[in-house]
Amino acid sequence: MKANCWYGKEDMRVEQVNDPKIINRGDIIVRVTLTAICGSDLHLYGGFVPTMQKGDIVGHEFMGEVVEVGPDVKKLKVGDRVVAPFPISCGACFFCEQGMFSLCENSNPNAWMAEQMWGHSPCGIFGYSHLLGGFAGGQAEYVRVPFGDVGPIKIENGISDEKVLFLSDILPTGYMAAEQCNIKPGDTVAVWGCGPVGLFAIASAFLLGAERVIGIDRVPYRLRMARENTKAETINYEEVSVLETLREMTGGRGPDHCIDAVGMESHSPGLQYAYDRVKQALMLETGRPIALREAIMACRNGGTVSVPGVFGGFVDKIPMGSLMNRSLTVKTGQTHVQRYMRPLLDRIQNGDIDPSFIITHRLTLDDAPDAFRTFRDKQDECVKVVLRPS
Ligand SMILES: [Zn+2]
Ligand SMILES: [Zn+2]
Repeated sequence: MKANCWYGKEDMRVEQVNDPKIINRGDIIVRVTLTAICGSDLHLYGGFVPTMQKGDIVGHEFMGEVVEVGPDVKKLKVGDRVVAPFPISCGACFFCEQGMFSLCENSNPNAWMAEQMWGHSPCGIFGYSHLLGGFAGGQAEYVRVPFGDVGPIKIENGISDEKVLFLSDILPTGYMAAEQCNIKPGDTVAVWGCGPVGLFAIASAFLLGAERVIGIDRVPYRLRMARENTKAETINYEEVSVLETLREMTGGRGPDHCIDAVGMESHSPGLQYAYDRVKQALMLETGRPIALREAIMACRNGGTVSVPGVFGGFVDKIPMGSLMNRSLTVKTGQTHVQRYMRPLLDRIQNGDIDPSFIITHRLTLDDAPDAFRTFRDKQDECVKVVLRPS
């Protein structure tokens, strides 16, 4: 089969590789009908994620048709249409039983690697390094999905691939980011980053009752999409001081909740960008947490800072004094996607949200290497790339 493989920093190649096979009794094999490049794949592309190996198949946002089921699979059969969640979860462990699927203790065969880096391991993830299990990803014609009865959600009617694909990751990720703010009617939420997760966090904050949502970015077309497709107000951080502007917009108090949908590769026009860029290059820190610092400083006293943005290891100069003295709550985590797929599918079917508005590029799997560059460089007003394997 054809698959998009990682070969090093800025080196993706579409190659012929072996078809996946059923390995465990609960596995299914999915013929991929639509897949996407995630913002977090850009951290792989940039060489920021350790334990990648040459030839690794990437991709953790995919859907398709079940073409083979293991002998223990009960809920799915050949021919079913499914969307798979990016966290691989057993459904039966201490964490899965509490709905914390991204912390599954049975799905990362390389947990020891993650334990060395983070103390404990989260779940395995498709196409996202050996540290997270070394699972082949979904930017391919076929993919093996472990725990077929637990993760994949069956799409029962003729709803289009483009409307449901993002149940795999970014829609639940944006939603969980907003949900963990405990938004009350009338609240104001600020969201750093108007990429796909940021846009879905904005849309979700409105769904959950926020009165105002303010999107922060530096790319004019992403800010425009936030205004036009989600009704957010926007701030271009290259034009004005974010902290001062947010203070003015909120009567001096600050936003009730702040969401960092940027993560470890933040940009900034200021001196701290140069500081973090140098430290990151020297391996003295593994991320540039500029958006996170600003989200903490901006948040009103007693508010929530929610972090769906991806971080890898260590970051510097987190304003702990601001967090502590002002009673802020920080919430973060890989998304417990399985918890949100059903309710969000219902919202899509009810017409509360149509996640396909973010798609700007519809390409084929063969285009994946070029599409990574277009997406990373924000060329051609690229917000989200979807790929058809054939
Ligand atoms: Zn993702
Ligand atoms: Zn589990």
